[in-house]
Amino acid sequence: MPQIQYPSLTRRAALFATGALATLGVPCAAWAAVDAAWPRNAVVPGGVARIELGPAATRPRAFADDAPLLVVGDPIVWTALVGIPLSATPGTAHIRVSTPEGERMLDYTVAPKRYTEQHLKVSPRTVDLSPEDLARHERERVHQQGVIATFSAPPASDLKMRPPCPGRRSSSFGLRRFFNGQPRNPHSGMDIAAPTGTPVVAPLAASVIDVGDYFFNGHTVWLDHGGGLLSMMCHLSRTDVKPGDRLAPGQRLGAVGATGRVTGPHLHWTVSLNRASVDPALFLAD
Ligand code: ZN
Repeated sequence: MPQIQYPSLTRRAALFATGALATLGVPCAAWAAVDAAWPRNAVVPGGVARIELGPAATRPRAFADDAPLLVVGDPIVWTALVGIPLSATPGTAHIRVSTPEGERMLDYTVAPKRYTEQHLKVSPRTVDLSPEDLARHERERVHQQGVIATFSAPPASDLKMRPPCPGRRSSSFGLRRFFNGQPRNPHSGMDIAAPTGTPVVAPLAASVIDVGDYFFNGHTVWLDHGGGLLSMMCHLSRTDVKPGDRLAPGQRLGAVGATGRVTGPHLHWTVSLNRASVDPALFLAD
C-alpha cells in the first residue's frame, strides 16, 4: 500500500498567506509550536512514529491492530502518534484510519534498532519462581493488561514531560537481558537512581488509574495522561494518591523506594502509548 505524505508545512504556509487559518479558528502561533510539544519521531522498535493523517473537520480515529491511537493536531493536519512495541519486526507496518468518509490504511516503515544485550549467570533459584509466586505474578499480569488498555480523551497538545524525579537517568531502555542464556523480557522503561524517599511527581497532567503492591514492580502508581498515553512508576517506598485523583504536572504521587524485585532504590518509569512501552526519553523536554 502506498505511503501518503501530506505537504503539511507547505499547506499550512499557503493557508497562512490567504488568512484561511483564522477562518478555521486556528491560532496563528499554534502550528509552529506543535512540533516541539510532541515526542521525538523515532520509527524503531520502542519508539514513536508521527504519521500525518491530513486535514479533516473533526479528529479522525486511528488504530494499530485493535488499539486506538493518540491523534493530535488540528483540522489543517492531524497526526497519529504511534507507539511501536519493542517486539516489533522491522519492515512495513500499518495503521487504520477511520473518518466519516470511510476507512483507509496508511503504511509506515519500522527501521531496525539494536539494543544492548546483557548476559548474566545467576543461581537458578533466584530466577525460578515458586508456584505461589508464579500464580501471583500471572494474576497481576492479567490485571496490568486491563490497566494498560485504558483509553480516555486525548491530552492537551503539549506532550513534553518533566522528569518524574531528580537523579541519574539510565539509558537502559530496551536492554535485552539473558539469565543463564534464557531471554527475559527487555527492559521496558527508564531507571532513575535516587535515594529512598525522593519525591516522585507526575511528568504530565494525569488521572491516577491504578495503585498497587506487585510482585516484580513493588508499590506502583499508574497514571493516565489521556489518549492511551500512560506512565507507570514502580518500586515506590510509599504512594500518596488513589485511583480517581487528578494530578497537575509536577504534583507529588509518592516517593522513590526499593520495593518489589530490585537490588537497590531507584525509580522505574515506563511510558506506554497504545499499549506499547516506548522510550520515555523521547518525551523529555531536555
Ligand atoms: Zn527498570
